[in-house]
Amino acid sequence: MARLQLRNLEKTYGNTFKAVHGINLDVEEGEFMVLVGPSGCAKSTTLRMIAGLENITGGEVRIGNRVVNALPPAKRGIAMVFQNYALYPHMKVRSNLSFGLRIQNVPKAEISAATEEVARILEIEPLLDRLPKELSGGQAQRVALGRALIKKPEVFLFDEPLSNLDAKLRASMRVRITDLHRRLKQEGKPATVVYVTHDQTEAMTMGDRICVMKEGRIMQVADPKTLYMRPANLFVAGFIGSPEMNLMEGRVEDTSDPVFSIGGQSVRLGRELSARLSLSSATNATVGIRPQHFEVAGPGDESGLSGRVTHVEFMGHEVYLYVDLGDARVIAVVNAEAYEAMDMSSDVVRLRPNAASVHVFDTVSGENISLERCAA
Ligand code: ADP
Ligand code: MG
Repeated sequence: MARLQLRNLEKTYGNTFKAVHGINLDVEEGEFMVLVGPSGCAKSTTLRMIAGLENITGGEVRIGNRVVNALPPAKRGIAMVFQNYALYPHMKVRSNLSFGLRIQNVPKAEISAATEEVARILEIEPLLDRLPKELSGGQAQRVALGRALIKKPEVFLFDEPLSNLDAKLRASMRVRITDLHRRLKQEGKPATVVYVTHDQTEAMTMGDRICVMKEGRIMQVADPKTLYMRPANLFVAGFIGSPEMNLMEGRVEDTSDPVFSIGGQSVRLGRELSARLSLSSATNATVGIRPQHFEVAGPGDESGLSGRVTHVEFMGHEVYLYVDLGDARVIAVVNAEAYEAMDMSSDVVRLRPNAASVHVFDTVSGENISLERCAA
């Protein structure tokens, strides 16, 4: 296994459309890196340049210590798993698995041992004599995974491999793939992975680190917790987390007890914030508060932002309140017991931000200007 490095990587399609704008990314040996972003942000283009399926118009791809720009896909030491499993329909599972080794003239006994081992790891031994059309979607995807695994590549590349599966199977394959990654590490065969998805849940649950992309640029690279707790900008803040972070444009007064004004109302954001923020005394800014980080004020409590509940969704243990604050519409997530205890005789609620979890963004640049400055 090897590390992967992208240096000022660029892609221009047809001399005119720049899809990738100089990306720099290091994926460490044995690391599971997820590329995530909305459709069209150039995740596949980036992956295909790593694989050698798309020519590179600027910068470098390094695998191990080699620049591989000029190498054909077969010489790069990569294996790729696609969304449409791309199994050979006329070959049994056994032959699909061993195909890559057979064309390299690997000795028969070795091929047979490798096939058995991969089938064992992926628990597909009972399927070895079936044709692809006799497999379920999840089984076919495991065979596709096996076909990549058997090559013992330097780097595994995945392009939305679970998108064709239903939600339940997707969740179980997610666990299977991360388990496999962990198991290979424990067995001393760590796998370097680049995994592309548009699904933030997949990214958050699978990645050691996540690279968030937008329009051919990297917005932030960090582990899941950091992305969630310390989003570098408005884009990451809005993309990571469900339901989305509430982003409200208003005015922030930065004193020892910062105040946020929106519409005709204002709310204290909490003293914790003043240590993280440095603004001229009152500035237009975007305040970000996750739906889970609002508290509903009790009866008689006049603090917080007052709004009208327009819609209520029961999610089981949680309830989503859609609240119209006048100049902003927000979602607050409250737990079911708290909701039961609420007085809903009027549809007016007061929402109080949880002070430790408030973010402030520069509305124009989008940058998070409330991250602890002492942190590395
Ligand atoms: P993603 O995988 O993130 O959805 P893609 O890498 O497929 O995004 O595409 C990135 C951008 O490049 C999109 O705007 C897409 O339309 C464009 N694109 C992709 N492939 C080609 C191509 N072969 N020719 C021209 N433009 C392309
Ligand atoms: Mg794609």
